Amino acid sequence: MQFSQEDLAFQREVRAFIQASLPDDVRKKVVHGNEVTKDDYTHWHKILYRKGWIAPNWPADQGGSGWSAIQRYIFDEECGLAGAPRLSPFGLGMVGPVIMHFGSAAQKARYLPNILSGEETWCQGYSEPGSGSDLASLQTRAERKGDHYLINGSKLWTSLAHHADLIFCLVRTSIEKKKQDGISFLVFGIKDQPGIDIRPLITLNGLRHVNQVFFTDVKVPLDSLIGEEGKGWTIAKYLLEHERVSGGGVGALKTALQRVKEIASSEMSDGQPLIEDTDFRRRVAQAEIELMSVEQTMLRALALFSADRQIGAVSSLIKIRRSEVEQTISELAVMAAHYYAMPYNVASLRDGWNEEPIGPEDANALTPTYMFLRAASIYSGSNEIQRNIIAKADLRLS
Ligand SMILES: Cc1cc2nc3c(=O)[nH]c(=O)nc-3n(C[C@H](O)[C@H](O)[C@H](O)COP(=O)(O)OP(=O)(O)OC[C@H]3O[C@@H](n4cnc5c(N)ncnc54)[C@H](O)[C@@H]3O)c2cc1C
Repeated sequence: MQFSQEDLAFQREVRAFIQASLPDDVRKKVVHGNEVTKDDYTHWHKILYRKGWIAPNWPADQGGSGWSAIQRYIFDEECGLAGAPRLSPFGLGMVGPVIMHFGSAAQKARYLPNILSGEETWCQGYSEPGSGSDLASLQTRAERKGDHYLINGSKLWTSLAHHADLIFCLVRTSIEKKKQDGISFLVFGIKDQPGIDIRPLITLNGLRHVNQVFFTDVKVPLDSLIGEEGKGWTIAKYLLEHERVSGGGVGALKTALQRVKEIASSEMSDGQPLIEDTDFRRRVAQAEIELMSVEQTMLRALALFSADRQIGAVSSLIKIRRSEVEQTISELAVMAAHYYAMPYNVASLRDGWNEEPIGPEDANALTPTYMFLRAASIYSGSNEIQRNIIAKADLRLS
């Protein structure tokens, strides 16, 4: 669980590169919880792409960095500590590995280069109204009609669909006895396509992150199918594993906790800085201990993984504890800024807002961030479902 000399040298190299390359305005937006635009994400994506660091989890012969698990962890942590934006996982972290594993040579050539370069962006069409935790109950139909599939149905909570060029979608191509059978994995264009209607859902922070996507007689070519027809559940499970394992982000939480300490050091309570208040200090210390435990669990999992040992349901454990500590930190930030965190002005989170903040610089973003993060225990598979996974896989309870 200790970094080697090579790992430490790698850490210094990553830190220096990010320091020199991450645009300061983007870093500020991330650290202050302001809206990061699609252009900001694309800009950072291209910087990492040019450096050859855009795909830490891809093999080197496919354009990835070819890093070890430890190096990937270090990179993720350094990005978080520096306030780099977390790039969308849908292309690089999810559909990319799926296409590499299950796609044809033509599909690999068509999609992978643009995922790497950032030319095309993706969204994930899994959940539906009535099918979230029980994903296999999904109802969106794709009927084979000659040279194409005809898609009808709807996907819900589709993050960033309004920015995406393409969608990867679980659809029902046949009705079978077992609901996991008859599901297929399709990839197709979503932007300005006839029959596709992307409607915004505004989350509690007042911003557009998720959507509902409606499909009405949408025609997609047969070569949109990845893998075998009716065997999409196997692909879905493969992808969900990637989704859960990729959700590290400990560095970003350290930065957020550091920000809480800074705010609490400048805000006064009963004539002294809030950080001196015994109860508040105890809460901050508790959050820090929990964050350290997430970090140590990740490192322990990495050590096992690097030694080709089974890690069990540890990704579920990390998902639960990480989302809980993230929520706690956002709550502490609101407490630290107290009444300065009360304004709920979404416009102030966007580019172009030039009014001087009252109180801490990032006060306006604290409550919206707190609100949005209530969803952290729901997305990527709810925490209750993760507990079920642990119960079955590690505790052998059924
Ligand atoms: C901000 C956000 C972004 C999202 N982005 C995407 C996206 O890009 N693409 C996508 O496909 N999906 C996305 N989702 C959907 C997400 O994956 C689902 O919300 C999640 O899987 C839960 O499904 P559900 O909302 O239908 O809730 P339900 O499955 O209806 O669950 C409701 C409640 O019941 C609990 N529950 C359900 N079943 C069980 C059980 N067996 N045991 C114990 N408790 C149970 C759940 O934990 C939850 O508390 C996103 C969600 C959010 C909030």
